[in-house]
Amino acid sequence: MTDPRPVSVDGAHGPVVARTRDELRTARASLTGGDVAVVMTMGALHEGHATLIETARRKAAHVVVTIFLNPLQFGPREDLSRYPRTFDSDMEICRAAGVDLVFAPTPDVIYQDGDPGVRISAGPLGTVLEGQARPGHFDGMLTVVAKLLHLTGADSAYFGQKDAQQLLLIRRMVRDLDFPVDVVSVPTVREPDGLAMSSRNTYLTESDREVALCLSRALQAGAGAAGEGPSAIRRAARAVLVREPLALVDYLVLVHPSTLEDVPEWYRGEALLAVAGRVGTTRLIDNVPLLVGPGGRALEVFSDVDSATT
Ligand code: AMP
Repeated sequence: MTDPRPVSVDGAHGPVVARTRDELRTARASLTGGDVAVVMTMGALHEGHATLIETARRKAAHVVVTIFLNPLQFGPREDLSRYPRTFDSDMEICRAAGVDLVFAPTPDVIYQDGDPGVRISAGPLGTVLEGQARPGHFDGMLTVVAKLLHLTGADSAYFGQKDAQQLLLIRRMVRDLDFPVDVVSVPTVREPDGLAMSSRNTYLTESDREVALCLSRALQAGAGAAGEGPSAIRRAARAVLVREPLALVDYLVLVHPSTLEDVPEWYRGEALLAVAGRVGTTRLIDNVPLLVGPGGRALEVFSDVDSATT
């Protein structure tokens, strides 16, 4: 049988592209002789996504990437219609990173009967921080993650620390609902000046981008005070943000990595320093995992979870 994958200019095989459930089933069935990792994305791929894919590539026999802009996780006043769509360059990144299969369905393929009546509930952890700013976001996100885990039949799934609350909720879902999948965290990939890579960075004007740097700088300043305890961390981070009035900060928190509750002043151990704010028309989030107390410092990912740093 001839290989169904498109051949690129340099003669290398690109990934198989599946757009329907049948195409996915057929292509998935051909991924034999080893485990399958999935990297779920909304497209507009950048180096952050590429790092997830490359990490998965090193660890698993086969890599499936999903490209799906999930309407269920966007609120009515959010950026679904203007979200960047860059399928050709996404495919180029997938090809270069050695992806076997790209599943790029439309919403009617995923939600065959329209809006699903049954959804995954993120519970209380889905109502704080990002969940407070974006009601229903995490229910919509978990619902599609659950569906894509089922549809791809992946053994492992790779997610970025960049979306810390999302990662926590996916781990919770997998544990609470006994999904047979390993969840792997991948450290945040940043621009050389510290800005966390994000598909939404393309919305930023040149001057917005300068303003946006205060978010990662605030986290860095907080990390610099990690040895001194929670109030020093919060103070150092806040001092950076107050110097940039054009960043409309939604929250800056230092919270426990699994409860997302503010850590008290006596707290020592791992904590999440997270920030969200609007710059121009763009809502941005960023975070840094910290070790608080003696030997305090920034971490790449939390230690009590599977890590892709080793
Ligand atoms: P998205 O396409 O924004 O939904 O992101 C898809 C996956 O890529 C999620 O697991 C994100 O956490 C991850 N991701 C996005 N940006 C970054 C980044 N800068 N560094 C690491 N992972 C990222």
